[in-house]
Amino acid sequence: MDVRIKFLGAVKSVTGSKYLLEIDDKRILVDCGLFQGPKELRLRNWSKLPIDPKQIDVIVVTHAHIDHTGYLPRLAKEGYGGKIICTEATKDLMGIMLPDAGKLQEEEAQFAFKHGYSKHSKPEPLFGVADAEMVLEMVEAHPMDKKIALTNNIEISFRNAGHILGAALVEFYLRGDSQNKKIVFSGDLGREEDPLMYPPAKVNQADILLIESTYGDRNNPMDRVEKELEEVTNFTVDNGGLLIVPSFAVGRTQNLIYYFHKLIAEKRIPAIPIYIDSPMAISVSSLYEKHGQINKLEVHKEGSKLISVFDAPNIRFCNTPESSRELNDLKNPAIIVSASGMCTGGRILHHLYHRLGNKKDTVLFVGYQAEGTRGRDILEGKESVRIFGIEVPIKCSIKKINGLSAHADQSELMNWISAFESSPKMTFITHGEEATARVLQDKIKTTKGWNCFVPDYLESFELFSSI
Ligand SMILES: [Zn+2]
Repeated sequence: MDVRIKFLGAVKSVTGSKYLLEIDDKRILVDCGLFQGPKELRLRNWSKLPIDPKQIDVIVVTHAHIDHTGYLPRLAKEGYGGKIICTEATKDLMGIMLPDAGKLQEEEAQFAFKHGYSKHSKPEPLFGVADAEMVLEMVEAHPMDKKIALTNNIEISFRNAGHILGAALVEFYLRGDSQNKKIVFSGDLGREEDPLMYPPAKVNQADILLIESTYGDRNNPMDRVEKELEEVTNFTVDNGGLLIVPSFAVGRTQNLIYYFHKLIAEKRIPAIPIYIDSPMAISVSSLYEKHGQINKLEVHKEGSKLISVFDAPNIRFCNTPESSRELNDLKNPAIIVSASGMCTGGRILHHLYHRLGNKKDTVLFVGYQAEGTRGRDILEGKESVRIFGIEVPIKCSIKKINGLSAHADQSELMNWISAFESSPKMTFITHGEEATARVLQDKIKTTKGWNCFVPDYLESFELFSSI
């Protein structure tokens, strides 16, 4: 058996996760994410993959975030017709998120066309809703912790990664002629003490390890999260303003609902309305109730209905574009949680458009802001930012809370690898900006002595030959 890996994304950056495993004549793609952030990265979504999608045998997906799944519809559009294997909750989430991503792509192309700010005379979307629907037909879901045979000598198993609902790390078990080998893809690893997700499963051995490094260079302790949320909310209420929170609709938003609800119940913040302005938030939240065995949410039954903190009276879901637009007229203190988390698209844009210039309001960042995104520009103190083709001045307060991230920080990553009983032959540091990945590389090298690499985009490595 000969095994090679080619890095097609999420190297020296945090988006576009795509790893091509070539095992003899089989080609397996692990994750199939969209590039987001700086233009030179986004342009990669438009360049041809170095492999014909029809030649990929199977795709394995770690979790539903768009930077891990958002390229699947494009791949389907270009002829991929094989299986897409993931966990059950990931399948349900993809059913919500991919058509939404397709709609966003179509709307952006349409908007650019209408307002004439695209260089193209007729901008085409990267993919559309129909392509996303095509992907959903190919998805095959499996439970966690169960061996799944991909071929007669390759098996995989999903283990809880604790990052978002259904997120898994993937163990590949290879049976060669003379030796057995194990490759582990960490996927995105979650926190040890997330309020809703269980901590990542421990792995004690791998011959090859790919580990994410989003926060490989820093620690984001969670112990101050509640206090900081309390302070920012009360600061905004005292100013008579609104608190705008750009947030991933999946995971982060549910954690925010949990925290705000707790702070109100403990009378640490006033019982102001909390608007969840994300079309997918209700469905996603109900998936937390449906997949109760893989998260910590407390759910009880009232008749045939499942009830949780998501049903609390001051939590208001905005189902329609009209209910979303009505929020622009709000004058009294309230909290608006809306997507996308890095302000790259979605309803958060019109909230920012209306609120950034208002001194009384606060924009609170609760997640990673990748280079080149509007979120990063706002966070770094730019005086204005471009939204809908218009330069919008930034006069509101800008705040940030780190501990809410759904990614393991450096100490948690180091703690996770400390469960390994022996050194992998090769460890690849992925899913982190280069400087961050280098810090984690040094840390692992100096404390563990492991053989670590920070791969380049499109670089390939021979993992095993003639085993
Ligand atoms: Zn993720």
